[in-house]
Amino acid sequence: MCVLCNDAKEEISHLFFECRFSAKVWERVLKKIKVHRRPFKWARDISWFQRKTCGKSMLTRVRRVALSTCVYMIWKARNCLIFQQKQPQGVQRNPRGASDAL
Ligand SMILES: [Zn+2]
Repeated sequence: MCVLCNDAKEEISHLFFECRFSAKVWERVLKKIKVHRRPFKWARDISWFQRKTCGKSMLTRVRRVALSTCVYMIWKARNCLIFQQKQPQGVQRNPRGASDAL
């Protein structure tokens, strides 16, 4: 179960792109770098980043950093919840998970 939303199975595609929390991280980061697209699915987004991050221009470097930052922030938030029981800012979990634990 995804600890960030308690609403879906934790798989790579869900955790990094489809989860409500992850979508918000992507939305904020992409907005900062003036990329106007929404996160979709793992394979599609990785393919998009592969095409858009080739080269040595400042823009492609910023996009690579944005990708790394998003993945890091999502993974860090997940681990904070699991190992330190710390709720990252912006995480709104489905309360169903709490009742499932009872
Ligand atoms: Zn989730």
